[in-house]
Amino acid sequence: MSRTLPQSELENFPSLDWSDAAHRTTPAVRAALDRVLDTQDGDALSREQCLLLAHAEGYDLLGLLVAADALRREVVGNLVTYVVNRNINFTNVCFVGCKFCAFSRGPRESDTYFLSMEQIAQKATEAWDLGVTEVCIQGGLPRDLPPFHYRDILRAVKQAVPGMHIHAFSPMEIVYGVELTGMALHDYLCMLRDNGLDTLPGTAAEVLDDEVRFVLSRNKVSTAQWREVIRTAHHCGIRSTSTLMYGHVETPVHWVNQILLLREIQAETGGFTEFVPLGFVHQNTLLFQQGLARSGPTLAEHLKIHALARIMLAGSINNIQVSWVKLNRRLSQLCLQAGANDYGGTLMEENISREAGATAGQYTSPEDFQALILEAGRIPAERNTAYTRIRIKQPPEPFIAEESLEPEFA
Ligand code: SF4
Repeated sequence: MSRTLPQSELENFPSLDWSDAAHRTTPAVRAALDRVLDTQDGDALSREQCLLLAHAEGYDLLGLLVAADALRREVVGNLVTYVVNRNINFTNVCFVGCKFCAFSRGPRESDTYFLSMEQIAQKATEAWDLGVTEVCIQGGLPRDLPPFHYRDILRAVKQAVPGMHIHAFSPMEIVYGVELTGMALHDYLCMLRDNGLDTLPGTAAEVLDDEVRFVLSRNKVSTAQWREVIRTAHHCGIRSTSTLMYGHVETPVHWVNQILLLREIQAETGGFTEFVPLGFVHQNTLLFQQGLARSGPTLAEHLKIHALARIMLAGSINNIQVSWVKLNRRLSQLCLQAGANDYGGTLMEENISREAGATAGQYTSPEDFQALILEAGRIPAERNTAYTRIRIKQPPEPFIAEESLEPEFA
């Protein structure tokens, strides 16, 4: 059994390469990591090997981080992508009552808000004028929402800015829309697609295990419902992200089960664009205040989940995103070195993590993103939501490239 490493030794993992780290890992962990490095396919691992990696401590954890970075370099190279986007959280009124959520309000609270169609369209227009390519639209679930409210939001945005990519509505909102309209799920999703829905956030996943979900929120969609919404969306031609919230009541077994489930869906549909581990921000949440959860992830957990995702999802979902709003600058850079290759969105107006107590800020400009990525020794590149268009940003002077950069970018 490996000993737990002091934080300074753990943080030093980017200075190691796989040949340094490999000989210190236990034989079973080394065999698993060598297997994925050879095949570049997470499917080459058994469930037992995945569990072994998910429980890695000490030098085994160090080996996992270093191997994930080496694999990232092989699979997606040295670019770190990001999308210039704006969040529009159109209301904070919600009846669902998730215990990890500090954003939602009851209808009678004093600081509720509900954006009109005109206000939503105005925000999208302002964003477009500032170079934003995607609006991410999600909100609380108020009772008695007009049945076609989500469709009408899409129409308002597309009418104002036809070229804007709309990334909108969690599987929870989709299920609510189905209930409100009485339409079949497939028909409802196709109707939203035909009114401008481009992609779906794979949020509301949290942990896809019904026992854990019951602790987090009794009213949330079940694992089966989440899976059904995502599969159906993919079959309707609506791609989505995938997420996992970590650092609360779950264990590494849940991580493995969820990542395997995502692989299974991806093998069927090919519809996931990326995987985003979301660190639990505990400060202002009932889940933490009621003593039901730990106080967010440790450094080891932050690094491990990104590395484990890179290893297990290799060949299936090759974009692993760092959710910078939930992390500080240094930690997000370390996650980039533990297997991640995407830095998410610039997120003008990020309300949800901020309400829960995240301190990373509300907005990072594209220039800040570029500087932060260069500081981590990588190449910044702006992408569109679906990763089908990537524009490499020229490094500002002076720029010292890490040794491994391909010559054409150096
Ligand atoms: S996470 Fe979403 S569904 Fe849950 S309470 Fe918050 S706003 Fe409502």
